Amino acid sequence: MTWRQSASAGEDPEDRRAVSPINPASQSAVRPVKLLIVGGVAGGASAATRARRLSEDAEIILFEKGPDVSFANCGMPYYAGGVIDSREKLVVTTPERLRRRFAIDVRTRHEVLAIDRDSRRVRVRELETGREYEESYDRLVLAPGAVPVTPEVPGIDLPGIFTLRALEDIDHIKAGIDAGLKRAVVVGGGFIGLEFAENLVHRGVATTIVELQQQLLPPLDAEMTTPILASLVRHDVDLRLGDSAVAFEQVGQGLEVCLASGERLPAGMVVVGVGVRPLNTLAVEAGLEIGPRGGVRVDEQMRTSDPAIHAVGDVAEIREAIFGEPAQIPLAGPANRQGRIAADAVFGRESRYRGTQGTSVVGVFEVTAASTGFSEKQLRREGRHYRKVYVHPANHAGYYPGAESMTLKLLFDPQPGPRQGRILGAQAVGGHGVDKRIDVIAIAIQSGLTVYDLEETELAYAPQYGSAKDPVNMAGFVAAGLLRGDHPQADMETVLEPGFAERSQAGEAEIPLDVRTPEEFARGHLPAAINIPVEELRARLGELPRNRRVLCYCQVGYRGYLATRILLQHGFDVANLGGGYKTFRLHCPDEPAAADGRATRQAAAVGR
Ligand code: FAD
Repeated sequence: MTWRQSASAGEDPEDRRAVSPINPASQSAVRPVKLLIVGGVAGGASAATRARRLSEDAEIILFEKGPDVSFANCGMPYYAGGVIDSREKLVVTTPERLRRRFAIDVRTRHEVLAIDRDSRRVRVRELETGREYEESYDRLVLAPGAVPVTPEVPGIDLPGIFTLRALEDIDHIKAGIDAGLKRAVVVGGGFIGLEFAENLVHRGVATTIVELQQQLLPPLDAEMTTPILASLVRHDVDLRLGDSAVAFEQVGQGLEVCLASGERLPAGMVVVGVGVRPLNTLAVEAGLEIGPRGGVRVDEQMRTSDPAIHAVGDVAEIREAIFGEPAQIPLAGPANRQGRIAADAVFGRESRYRGTQGTSVVGVFEVTAASTGFSEKQLRREGRHYRKVYVHPANHAGYYPGAESMTLKLLFDPQPGPRQGRILGAQAVGGHGVDKRIDVIAIAIQSGLTVYDLEETELAYAPQYGSAKDPVNMAGFVAAGLLRGDHPQADMETVLEPGFAERSQAGEAEIPLDVRTPEEFARGHLPAAINIPVEELRARLGELPRNRRVLCYCQVGYRGYLATRILLQHGFDVANLGGGYKTFRLHCPDEPAAADGRATRQAAAVGR
């Protein structure tokens, strides 16, 4: 039976009885379900407690091979950094509470070794004693999570090299820091690596991040990570982008990290955070259907190819929420929701998982970066139609003290038809309020809304919280105006093309028109740009060519938009350069304020 067929589970009589809808009056007539759950943290604990709320009669056994259940692995970097001051605070609930409050038979330090699907039994090892025994089930929920990927390089097993998964990992790491760690190397510049680097710096540890790609936070588009990079540099974090650890060596009491570039970095400790892979051994050995990235295939009710077995959390291959393609997205929120849905399915409820959008947020010192849905590079890689806009608003009214700016990038479907303008993804980076805007857009994506809906979205406003035109509305206005043809937009890639400046100066390419003040222009401008402030534009139209496209830009896009509207109405071939000079600077943080048009390292890194 394939996993798709299994979506209509309930073929055999026993199956139908077990999944019949809950009806309090008929509860006693239903044979109590014996539910086993493998893994007692995000997905597993959610499934167990939800199951108990749905059925007082069910026998629920939760197996967890570690000593803890339901702990906050997301809080571990902050415990190491001393932001979370006690280990107990990471323990969301205890086995004892699950037993007393939920009547769940919690068996910590019990590892499930194998599944016999024919007899519906699992083999379990009690890790303290080595005793092995079998347990039968009516329904089985697999929530074993994922394991950190460790690079297969010499010396990876040396003491002092850590990955982060269980509370014991953070105990070892924290003990090392407490003992006076001076220097650390973090391998991997993703979410966990960055959070860890920040916390090491809090503890006064000199920290280097080594990242294989040319950018930090690989799930985001490269230009959106520029403020994170700048913040790390401001806090003296040493960054090695486009490099990788190829070996680790013990040198005296410490370690040396050998990089592909030939450099050797001394370190008292190495933390490796280069991703995770689904812990699918049980599922593979039981013959369950597995996706190409190792995730256990499930339907919308988290049923695997065996209708008696569900899989949730990092081990499951779900569908992404926008195009419905199979995906592997390890996040805590989805794992918790999937646990609930699996329990619902076991007891006959019709809840269905809507797919994962990958909504995520990370804070690195004073900068927050968040995203939801697809990134531009993913859309490009998959050959999808998309357009993008950038806005750079403040988090709240500029006249109220403390306003902080953010960059919000919105990706949407430009194709004509009923779904035109559908939101495909968004990313934001800046200070306060970044998370709120991405959360709003996450809901918009989940609801299938368009950029036209964002224009109309009504959000709470008082000067200290937002603006009468919220950043979400602003992104909607710009995107919807673009689709309506009110202001043609050229993307920044046009001017980032190698040789653009030379071609523009030779009259063979578009001409960038900077409509900011001469003072702003003098502080830095695009290659080959000319300067006419927007206020003088109507009087100086004669200075502009009519045989070439004019690319208007300002600092953030608004004056560029006004100039575009003026020139359009005077018959020029014109476009607004999306996101203005600020967006150019995100692409080219190193670019000197000159007109030589050299592609920078960062621009090259973004593949443009
Ligand atoms: P887990 O929560 O990993 O639980 C699986 C459990 O199953 C483990 O305790 C394991 O011991 C147990 N187990 C495995 N095999 C067996 C077996 N055979 N028998 C018995 N027990 C078994 N996500 C976010 O959304 N936001 C964040 O900020 C965030 N920060 C993170 C920070 C860190 C340091 C880490 C490590 C992860 C972070 N995540 C974050 C990811 C998030 O924690 C995971 O996506 C989520 O915990 C997955 O839930 P799960 O139930 O699938 O697996």
